[in-house]
Amino acid sequence: MTNEAKHQETLQVARGMHDILPERADRHVEIESAARKAFDVFRYREIRTPVLESAALFQRAIGVATDIVEKEMFTLKDRGDRVLCLRPEGTAGVVRAYIENNLAHTIAESKFFYIGPMFRAERPQKGRYREFVQIGAEFFGNARPSADAEVIALLFSLIQNAGIRELQVFINSIGCRECRVKYTQSLVEYFSGKKAELCENCTRRLEKNPLRLLDCKWDAVKFTDAPKTIDALCAACAEHYARVKSGLNAMSVPFIEQPRLVRGLDYYTRTVFEIYPSSTMGSQDALAAGGRYDNLVEQLGGAPTPAVGFAMGMERILNQLDLSASSAPAGRRGVFILPLGDAAFETTQKLLHTLRLAGVQAETGMPDQSIKSQMRFADKLGSEFCVIIGDNELKSGEYALKNLETQKQQGISKDAIVQFLQDHYSQKSS
Ligand code: AMP
Repeated sequence: MTNEAKHQETLQVARGMHDILPERADRHVEIESAARKAFDVFRYREIRTPVLESAALFQRAIGVATDIVEKEMFTLKDRGDRVLCLRPEGTAGVVRAYIENNLAHTIAESKFFYIGPMFRAERPQKGRYREFVQIGAEFFGNARPSADAEVIALLFSLIQNAGIRELQVFINSIGCRECRVKYTQSLVEYFSGKKAELCENCTRRLEKNPLRLLDCKWDAVKFTDAPKTIDALCAACAEHYARVKSGLNAMSVPFIEQPRLVRGLDYYTRTVFEIYPSSTMGSQDALAAGGRYDNLVEQLGGAPTPAVGFAMGMERILNQLDLSASSAPAGRRGVFILPLGDAAFETTQKLLHTLRLAGVQAETGMPDQSIKSQMRFADKLGSEFCVIIGDNELKSGEYALKNLETQKQQGISKDAIVQFLQDHYSQKSS
């Protein structure tokens, strides 16, 4: 490789990473605000944990025989030779923070949400990136089925608030540790007789982590008569599952039982769920997923604490919204101040800043450009109003105010313009 080629290479975004350009960033903010509204009404409070955590946290939480820990973590060593990694998911960090800050005893809240980037070294493809944003929630200290139902109902309304109305909610119960041992045994028995039909990965999974077989894109669909988790549930887990379902019915959250849904992480117990858009079904299309994890807090060194949570992928939501997007143009907003000639410069600078301080979105043009090219710029920006100030306006003290939507123009006194625009925007926002 030539030096020039090397230089060019370093200037590209890293594989699987993306720049979020302003238009897309605006959409992230819209989804975030829809989510924040839902979290507020369900009384979840925000928690922000570091992007870098010790790699051991995820090994212990997610499980060593999972795809994430085996091959998808971005790990690095700090100067003290400690092995850190870019968090691949949010739950483990929140649980660590919950234990480390003694949150069970220091604050009244037991319901938290987070919004932030996660990192997985996956093979990049549509809907599967190496850096992606998850919006997630964790509900600690409540073992009741109503907590599972609440979390699913929250997620359902959050995705609907974000603009995707037609959803499929898949739920299942994988039971407690005891049920899992029983179920794993029945899986091993079932698949042992079918080794020859398994893909290379699944042959390995059968030894190390048989539950993972059900996540396999190739094999899981072939074995439609594989054992169901619900057949291995103990009485308490079966009762819990039945009550989660009646809780969902009570809140009119539609769901579909999916008896072989197990999820890719080891920490889940009892309820697991995934939400897909109604139109498609495929492993990369899950908009969000989650479940109960009653052993994780204890497993990471805390007091035994039941918990349930979910994570939703921002990019998956936006991709889905893109598919169903109506092409309605965004409404015009803000004021463009158009100076004509250098004499107007000081006046327009002052007006621009006064409007901005008054909370009105405002921009200006270049005094040496023609009225036509400045108008074109104002139009490109999507401004709603244009205030034209040249020599005549400076002399008369009356500015030309043009509504760029209706193309109507009126004169307005320099003393009245700020109030007029401020009133216009405060009415619009109220
Ligand atoms: P998980 O943490 O694997 O249960 O994933 C929860 C949600 O995060 C998924 O339903 C997706 O919406 C999103 N997600 C997971 N991995 C990726 C990825 N590599 N790229 C984009 N979104 C992802």
